[in-house]
Amino acid sequence: MIIKEDIIFKRSKKGKRAFNLPEQEDNSALFEKFSDEIKDFVSEEEPKLPELSEVDVIRHFIRLSNMNYNVDLGFYPLGSCTMKYNPKINEVVAALPGFRHIHPLQPDHTVQGALRLMYELSQFLAEISGMDSVTLEPAAGAHGELTGIKIIKKYHETRGEKRKYILVPDSAHGTNPASTTLAGYIAKTIKSNNLGMIDIKELEKNLNEEVAGLMVTNPNTLGIFEREIKEIAELVHKVGGLMYMDGANLNALLGYIRPGDIGFDVIHFNLHKTFSTPHGGGGPGSGPVGVKAFLKDFLPGLLIEKINEHYIRKETGKNSIGKVLAFFGHFAVMVKAYTYIRMIGKEHIKSVSENAVLNANYLKQLLKEAGYEIPYDSIPMHEFVATGAPIKKKYGIRTLDIAKRLLDYGVHAPTIYFPLIVSEALMIEPTETENIETLEYFAQVMKKILDEAATNPEIVKTAPHNTPVKRLNDVYAVKNLKVKYEESEE
Ligand SMILES: *Cc1c(COP(=O)(O)O)cnc(C)c1O
Repeated sequence: MIIKEDIIFKRSKKGKRAFNLPEQEDNSALFEKFSDEIKDFVSEEEPKLPELSEVDVIRHFIRLSNMNYNVDLGFYPLGSCTMKYNPKINEVVAALPGFRHIHPLQPDHTVQGALRLMYELSQFLAEISGMDSVTLEPAAGAHGELTGIKIIKKYHETRGEKRKYILVPDSAHGTNPASTTLAGYIAKTIKSNNLGMIDIKELEKNLNEEVAGLMVTNPNTLGIFEREIKEIAELVHKVGGLMYMDGANLNALLGYIRPGDIGFDVIHFNLHKTFSTPHGGGGPGSGPVGVKAFLKDFLPGLLIEKINEHYIRKETGKNSIGKVLAFFGHFAVMVKAYTYIRMIGKEHIKSVSENAVLNANYLKQLLKEAGYEIPYDSIPMHEFVATGAPIKKKYGIRTLDIAKRLLDYGVHAPTIYFPLIVSEALMIEPTETENIETLEYFAQVMKKILDEAATNPEIVKTAPHNTPVKRLNDVYAVKNLKVKYEESEE
């Protein structure tokens, strides 16, 4: 069944209500007491809200949710985004009244459980990453990057050094150069070698005393682990630069490699990817930042300390970069990540990365057998990148067409046209929570689409056909942005 649903205003009928309130008293006397400044803000017109009954409202939103693809519905191999299944126990724990009904301004002794959870989560993340201190404050991955780069900047500044550049490999996540720029540095691109790893010669050419640090997505966006990272870290440290790791892809390394042991000084985590919180469509996420001991003083906001079985919030020192978010970060996400880590346990945390890597390698092999080309074809970690370039050349079918056709078979599309170093890129991350049947189904569908490209290219070029909306004009909304509903529009 294809469900269609229009905007809620179209269901509106004058006088319909989903609630009953007592008659309103005459409050004009109260209004007169307001100052003129406040009166200026009061609208003379009634707000133009849709009028509906409860059942109308529920059906509207349920229908909308059914028009949407989601990770609880099926396979979602969106490269880099780690769209793994999020266990529902996380939601149960996050909704416990003791977590849900507390306020950030409550005194420490009334929120000991919450503080303990934050304290222990920081400890887990420090142990997992090989770092010494962790702040839970940043709101998401990119926000963690900005926080981490600001820490690096403050570190150099307190040493009286003005450095200009952060080096960023061309295989980095797109947010990396953006965050460095926002923090006031110039992002300088380092080219990859033909194995898809940082080219050490290129790196050496760009290393000097003006370099504040190197920011590495590891594994990088090709899903490849930077094998020469220890040597790279030595080179960067030699000129006084620091090593930043974008740890959003930590599901590839959990339990096997600790970034702090291989030369990194700063890392951010994506709790909403690696540690299973629903994400996409804007959050909320959580992007904690871990640092080595010599950078602890620069951490933002508050840290939790444990003194005689008692947990307290403590301001960071005078070198702190200052707060990066109101209060203490996104607490509910922390509860979910904590639950996930405790549920898996220290002994089994390795199984996360083992399954992530096994699934990616198996799926890569299946796609190769199905006829897809993998340009940087080494052993990938948690994801790999195929190219649709030969298919485009042979049949005029673009990667975008393949992505759209996948929707007809009930599968979410992979990330496409990223990373930029692969033309017609299909960036595929199966994640650790998928079973073998799902991987094989996906490979079968990909093969089928390739067959269609040869025998019936039109059906691929005009896909999707089975979805609530068909092929959309991707840029129309951007070029004709309209967020207000006008009643005259029918
Ligand atoms: C998702 C991701 C980010 C950004 O994280 P957000 O939470 O979306 O801001 C950064 N780096 C990598 C490698 C990522 O996959």
